[in-house]
Amino acid sequence: VTKRVALLRKVWDLPNAPEDEVCPEVVFAGRSNVGKSSLVNMLLNRTALAPTSARPGKTKTMDFFDVNSGHPALPRFRLVDVPGLGFARVSRDLRDRWIGLIGGYFVQRKSLKIVFHLLDAGLCEIMPADRELWRLLAQAKRTDYELCVVLTKADNTIPSQLQRFAKIVREALRQEGSELALHATIFACSSKSKLGKDTLWRKIWSAVGG
Ligand code: GDP
Repeated sequence: VTKRVALLRKVWDLPNAPEDEVCPEVVFAGRSNVGKSSLVNMLLNRTALAPTSARPGKTKTMDFFDVNSGHPALPRFRLVDVPGLGFARVSRDLRDRWIGLIGGYFVQRKSLKIVFHLLDAGLCEIMPADRELWRLLAQAKRTDYELCVVLTKADNTIPSQLQRFAKIVREALRQEGSELALHATIFACSSKSKLGKDTLWRKIWSAVGG
């Protein structure tokens, strides 16, 4: 594990990342189609976000968005979009590069406060890519940020299935065994019904010091 972290440190090079590490950062990660854009847009009452990075579109690995920068009374934070979770169809090279970038971010980024990991409640399944994300978080060996697992599309799922899935996730996190995984919060959300919106905001506010 030590070797792996050393390797991650070496390959850390995220041209898209703003240089200042003072503004708190909140990560949203999940496999494609999990409902990430819908959730972020619901959260911010928007239909689209504007990237703040100096070179938007330069990398497809992570995107950084400033939130509340125009509202001095509200806590400012950065929302970090981590696309590309799940590499079934990409080359080994690309997959390794992705792991290097995201893993390096988890190891080094001082401003990281909270990671929201989205899982589709309708699918009721934890995929290898999701476990890969947990492994990267575990390897970072940090406890100064928090992991929240968000079960998305809860409107589409009957309560008993939602509860069953939450149990499966809790058990999988227990097996993962890292501090972050053991202390993770799990809650359900829906961009359609807005279920969980307040919980999400409360989590963000407490993480970014609002
Ligand atoms: P992304 O690829 O993770 O950004 O996912 P999107 O936000 O684009 O959503 C993927 C699909 O899931 C779209 O067809 C959405 O309409 C649907 N979807 C997203 N959020 C919800 C939700 O809360 N409930 C339901 N029922 N469908 C949703």
